[in-house]
Amino acid sequence: MRRGCLSVGTVSCEVCKHKIPYPDRYVMVDEDAKGVEVEKGGKSVRYCIDCAQKKGYAHYKEIKGEMMLTFLRESEASLPTEPPAPVKESKV
Ligand SMILES: [Zn+2]
Repeated sequence: MRRGCLSVGTVSCEVCKHKIPYPDRYVMVDEDAKGVEVEKGGKSVRYCIDCAQKKGYAHYKEIKGEMMLTFLRESEASLPTEPPAPVKESKV
């Protein structure tokens, strides 16, 4: 399971060991002993954005002409972001 977080300046990436400065974002991922993402019961590992991108935990997605950082899985991120079209009610 992934959680996008905002650094308060005191956390470090557990992969590259770099300090994550405030107010950069990072992601916490629950992983099993082999480093595979699990929904729960794993160890929480902190990734900076660079390392998260390398592992496929974060990616940039263009939303309305702006590059937005997302921690969603590709399948979730590709869901339509536009709200469904309103259903027209026929009043008689
Ligand atoms: Zn890192």
